[in-house]
Amino acid sequence: MPSLSPDEARTRAAAVDVTSYDLDLDLTTGERTFASISRIRFTATADATFLDVQPETLIEVTLNGRAVDVTGLEDGRLALTGLADENELIVTATMAYSHDGEGLHRSVDAADGQAYLYAMSFLDAAPRIFACFDQPDLKAPYRIRVTAPQDWEVLGNGAATQVAPGRWELAETRPLSTYFVTLVAGPYHVVRSEHDGIALGLACRRSLGEHLDREADDLFTVTRQAFDEFHRLFGYRYPFGEYHQAFVPEFNAGAMENPGCVTFRDEMVFRSAVTEGERSTRARTVVHEMAHQWFGDTVTMRWWNDLWLNESFAEYMAHRVSTTATRYTDNWIDFAFARKWWGMKADQRASTHPVASDPVKDARAALDDFDGISYAKGAAVLKQLVSYLGDDVFLTGVRAHITGHEFGNATLADLLRAWADAGAVDLDRWAQAWLRTPGLDTVRAERTATGVRLSRTAPEAFPAQRPHRFSVGGYDENGAGQRVEVLLDADAVEVELDPGAALVIPDAGDDTWAKVRLDEQSLANLAAVLPKLTDPVTRAVVWNSVRDAVENAELDPRLAFDVLCAALAREDSDIALGSLASWTRTRVLGGFLPAEPYTSRLAEVLTERLPRTPAGSSLQLAVTRGMIATTADAGPLRGWLEGRAVPEGLAVDADLRWLITLRLARLGAIGDDEIDAELARDKSSEGIVHATRCRAAQPTAAAKERAWAQIVSDGEVANYQLYAACEGFWHPAQTEVTAPYVDRYFAEIAGTEKLRSGWVVSAAAGLAFPGVFVDQAVVAKADALAADQTVGAGIRRAVSDAADDLRRTVAVRQVFGL
Ligand SMILES: [Zn+2]
Repeated sequence: MPSLSPDEARTRAAAVDVTSYDLDLDLTTGERTFASISRIRFTATADATFLDVQPETLIEVTLNGRAVDVTGLEDGRLALTGLADENELIVTATMAYSHDGEGLHRSVDAADGQAYLYAMSFLDAAPRIFACFDQPDLKAPYRIRVTAPQDWEVLGNGAATQVAPGRWELAETRPLSTYFVTLVAGPYHVVRSEHDGIALGLACRRSLGEHLDREADDLFTVTRQAFDEFHRLFGYRYPFGEYHQAFVPEFNAGAMENPGCVTFRDEMVFRSAVTEGERSTRARTVVHEMAHQWFGDTVTMRWWNDLWLNESFAEYMAHRVSTTATRYTDNWIDFAFARKWWGMKADQRASTHPVASDPVKDARAALDDFDGISYAKGAAVLKQLVSYLGDDVFLTGVRAHITGHEFGNATLADLLRAWADAGAVDLDRWAQAWLRTPGLDTVRAERTATGVRLSRTAPEAFPAQRPHRFSVGGYDENGAGQRVEVLLDADAVEVELDPGAALVIPDAGDDTWAKVRLDEQSLANLAAVLPKLTDPVTRAVVWNSVRDAVENAELDPRLAFDVLCAALAREDSDIALGSLASWTRTRVLGGFLPAEPYTSRLAEVLTERLPRTPAGSSLQLAVTRGMIATTADAGPLRGWLEGRAVPEGLAVDADLRWLITLRLARLGAIGDDEIDAELARDKSSEGIVHATRCRAAQPTAAAKERAWAQIVSDGEVANYQLYAACEGFWHPAQTEVTAPYVDRYFAEIAGTEKLRSGWVVSAAAGLAFPGVFVDQAVVAKADALAADQTVGAGIRRAVSDAADDLRRTVAVRQVFGL
């Protein structure tokens, strides 16, 4: 299927202007397909164009009453000729339900056999649901009618009304881009409320209903607070009528910002205990999708190269608004620990790219750049921009941009102009350095006789003069300190700060985007002083510096591991603890450092910490999870499953039981029978995914072969099960049994694009990569595959990124003789 190119999009946008879409979908025609009728009214200034439609069967097409030959459909495109000034196109088709999370996804809940649907049109999946001109700048109002089983709920971009049993009409929408047209249909459990004249709704599968009822208050509260704050900041009311938030099954992304009807992955309903950090992440996701209602939905990018702007803006706004307007004030901590770390790694890979790329890539290729740079770096850069411009200029520009382009499309140049009109100066130079140049500067602190000298170095491959506004902190041995504001707009600046400080930390408030390097004296004091720093954001800055120095083979991972053990014994932020334990598990143990004795040492630190965490706290849960994932002692874990010696306050609920089962399976302490017994206790769709992961994690040849078959040859496996099989498969302690699959990965992974399409292909290729084999020969094979132009771009990108990580691991072991 060819992907739309920017040239094709420009030509088509010049040729046609869509007046309206009327869609009629019949969801009662069977389990495999649905009926789709699209009536498109459009004006034309050219004689010919083409339509996007990807049906199972194209039954009939009429243009202005005249039949169009349906056999002309090729690769999802149908040529239309003989266009009039005003046209009516009617397309009747049978469409297939999807199982990969794109198109009209159909999922059957294992708990009760009920079927649930949701439409995911992003990025170019709308033609799998209805016939359309699929590009972001051909916006039009939609009227949608739906026939559904009588006990179903129907939700969509416009308010839905049941006009007869099983017959629904959705209110005509504002002009929408094709990529955010949605429909949510099934026997969904719906909770309704209202705020400030806006009807609010939450929806999920019935089997999760009791959990959503419990969570509804938290979700509605965040939604209300964020609406008030966005109305205050933007001075522009939410324009899309009702606001529904539907938690849907087997969703690939975190959420999707469809106007009026946002879809979320339904793990966010929370059926088991979670940490405050996870609640905070959910709140931020809610606020992120709300920010898109203005930035993305009311004003939409003209072409996919500006997709970063949607995401960077929503990411920045989500952290800002959840921190200032909701009870989730820890979001900048998570931003530093998790999001920026994600982006910093992406910005140092071979695949790095500018935040704002040139509009040359086709739609699908633009999606490959949809990474930690588009989200986290972009948001960090916007945060820098706010301190550079001042909040008044920033918001004045954003308000003018929204009002000036409402229900239309705009580009980065339009937004820069709006900021310039609001009083910003020298923005072009700033945008060139920060948005159009990839890579990140290294900022170092050096002590002088009277203070501290801060220096800035751009990466050789991407020279730039980036101004950094941030604060530098000096801390004594008790962690007490002072911060000084700095504008680093030269190669080096001198700052007045006590040169005898135990720790000197550039960018102590995490305001800029740079690799921070600490001086020797600070590094020597780190293990003793870092745990005493009271600001978790500053601790995150130090940790990003330490992690990055390790990843670049500049700092001995054994030293970092010692600092880590000292920190984990005291760290009181569950966000910090969770991210550090996760980095250690995925990158350090069996990566930079041999799996043993370090895994046992980490397990010891966490086991020792556990009784010192408050009963029932987030910290207790975070430490417990880390301990479960690292301990080799099956006895206590089995005991917890049987209710013996469970730490006070710890709920051994469904998801924690599965985490324990996963560890026991990985250790070889249990087999298929015990996994099946656990599944008999939890017969949900979630249970099936967990069981798949556990089965793949067993250290036996039979278990690995079964999981491998799911990964490389089962075209029917549902996306979440596929990811779980990949996640369970490799482990540093199981290299003996998985060794034959290294070559099989490189021989067979390219074939998976014939089994599946879209998002899942590259996601699975990344998750199934044999990164636990720390070996230059594996890097070489990965490089060869990434360079093989006969392989799909999504797989090559996933392999290239995984190869970068492995290359670093190999280099660290070489440099430090490990
Ligand atoms: Zn987003």
